[in-house]
Amino acid sequence: MSIIRRYAAAALISIPAAGFAQGAPAAATPAVAPPLTTVLPTDPKVKIGTLSNGLRYYIRQNSKPEKRAELRLVVNAGSILENDNQLGYAHIIEHTAFNGTTHFAKNDLIKYLQSIGVRFGADLNAYTSFDETVYILPVPTDTARILDQAFTILEDWAHGQTFDSTEVMNERGVVREEWRGRKGAGDRMLQKWLPIAFKGSRYATRLLHAVEMAAGLGIRAAPASGITPSGR
Ligand SMILES: [Zn+2]
Repeated sequence: MSIIRRYAAAALISIPAAGFAQGAPAAATPAVAPPLTTVLPTDPKVKIGTLSNGLRYYIRQNSKPEKRAELRLVVNAGSILENDNQLGYAHIIEHTAFNGTTHFAKNDLIKYLQSIGVRFGADLNAYTSFDETVYILPVPTDTARILDQAFTILEDWAHGQTFDSTEVMNERGVVREEWRGRKGAGDRMLQKWLPIAFKGSRYATRLLHAVEMAAGLGIRAAPASGITPSGR
């Protein structure tokens, strides 16, 4: 899964057929910057609420693409919560969310999603950042059963990982290959400037390049640490 280094904070977002309204053409007169205290306006078409368990949700209806819903689970937890002996845990936990959960053993989740036309990587995806872990699940809405199952998947991602030892060990190789594939000039520069930009901050020491260091060692200790998909 891809890794994006940026910030965010939210609990849960489910966006049927996500999309945003097109902005109006730029005005002819020069724009005046609003005061920094100005709060960004919320699209009035977005329904926002909080469930009794504290889960916050956002829903927006879109007509295109037709008969599709895109669900996202946005977990307010990422690599910044890792202790020194847990580097890489946030990322590998994101990966193992696809390798066995309460309702989908081992790779059954992928098999099920493929059976309803969801492509792994192209449609289904996830990423880990300093402060957030995001799971993206677009599904067809042909039947109520499919949508119901989609929410079950989100539930499993939130607090139903099984952390099968074999699966965790196998996924280490996938994470390591992602790390290897990112190596290059851009990554070398990042390793140089980011610790300087974040000097004095915990962010300077929580680069996700350290995923290979986690290597799944003691990964079962992670849930108790708070770095879990349901961490925040
Ligand atoms: Zn990944």
